Amino acid sequence: MVDNQNPTDWLKRQINEVVEELELSPSVYQILKNPKHCITVSITLERDDGSVETYTGYRSVHSNLLGPGKGGIRFHKDVNEQEVIALSMWMTLKTSILKLPFGGAKGGITVDPRELSRKELQQLSRQYIQDIEPVIGPQKDIPAPDVNTDGRVMGWMMDEFYKLRGRNIPGFITGKPPVVGGSEGRVEATGRGVVINILEAMKKLDMDPQQSSVAIQGFGNVGSVTAATLYEKGVKVVAASDIDALVTDPNGLNVPEMVKYVEANGSLKGYADDKNPDDLFDVECDVFIPSALENQITEETAPKIKAKIVAEAANGPTTEKGDEILNENGVFVIPDILCNAGGVMVSAFEWMQNDSHDHWAEKVVNERLEKDMSSAFLEVYDMRNHIDKSMRHAAYYLAVKRLGDAMIVRGWID
Ligand code: GLU
Repeated sequence: MVDNQNPTDWLKRQINEVVEELELSPSVYQILKNPKHCITVSITLERDDGSVETYTGYRSVHSNLLGPGKGGIRFHKDVNEQEVIALSMWMTLKTSILKLPFGGAKGGITVDPRELSRKELQQLSRQYIQDIEPVIGPQKDIPAPDVNTDGRVMGWMMDEFYKLRGRNIPGFITGKPPVVGGSEGRVEATGRGVVINILEAMKKLDMDPQQSSVAIQGFGNVGSVTAATLYEKGVKVVAASDIDALVTDPNGLNVPEMVKYVEANGSLKGYADDKNPDDLFDVECDVFIPSALENQITEETAPKIKAKIVAEAANGPTTEKGDEILNENGVFVIPDILCNAGGVMVSAFEWMQNDSHDHWAEKVVNERLEKDMSSAFLEVYDMRNHIDKSMRHAAYYLAVKRLGDAMIVRGWID
């Protein structure tokens, strides 16, 4: 088996396995194995120098069984159709475990945003919304931020949708800045959710957070908020890496200083005596947090991980082979579809606030995130003990079971 395979292959096999174990109708697998639709658009952009370029964009709705499609939009040079489809499938499973009123979706543009000016980026974001406009809407498919997109991009997209429809429809997109209907605490939600999961796992494994160390791969929105939140709670962050650099300190890094450094310089490059990011896997730590892209914990890197916990803050960071190795080594893996679900959970809160023209205080958002995320963790943990399998397997069990139940109730299957 090739380790860097198309993630949908493994994903589909995992779903099928669970369908069989739960003795659900084989139709459940047939319905879940492909996205409802995945559209490809060719986005035309006039560059600042007057030349015209086209970029390929995608939007996949994997499922609208439990509600409208939901998922972020990614700007990255490696974005492709299969990746977007896999990411949309993970969203279906994620929203199902969290009992959110959504299906699963994802979008992306194959572009390196660092090569575009701010004006070009705004134009590209607006054009993408024009191109996918027929398939999105607050009861149809609701985008949000993902890798390399943020509140600023959501603000442009929201404005473009307003212009196209001729009225304000804030609930068509989440992750907006609060001044235009975004939720307090949405920016930090994914990282906070990761930390809630880690602290719950530590309780179960009898680990003292104050005596534990973590290493984080990725220092973007999710990685940096996760690091800062752990630091605030007295957990030692001994290593953090991004695409350009790795910084380590066995006595604990000064995370707030690093966050300021990255804000000013765009990356960790040049911070302290930075090293090669590939060396991150060799760092001794109790918790390893992949918080970048897919396929990072592989046949090659998994054996190096000595941590007791792997908390998957990224989507799909572990390959099938990598996962096997972690399981053999007794690592407690908090799977992506649970671990990083805080973002879409607060997106759901944002959508609810938009629907009722309400605005919740950050304290209210965080309390509900804490409560709902902890109970999701415990539900998966109890299922893991019940079936005596991994946390990932238990998460798939719960997610697929709920989807199967909904298919019956909706009359899709008998
Ligand atoms: N991009 C995030 C994720 O992968 C958030 C999606 C959302 O808020 O809809 O879960």
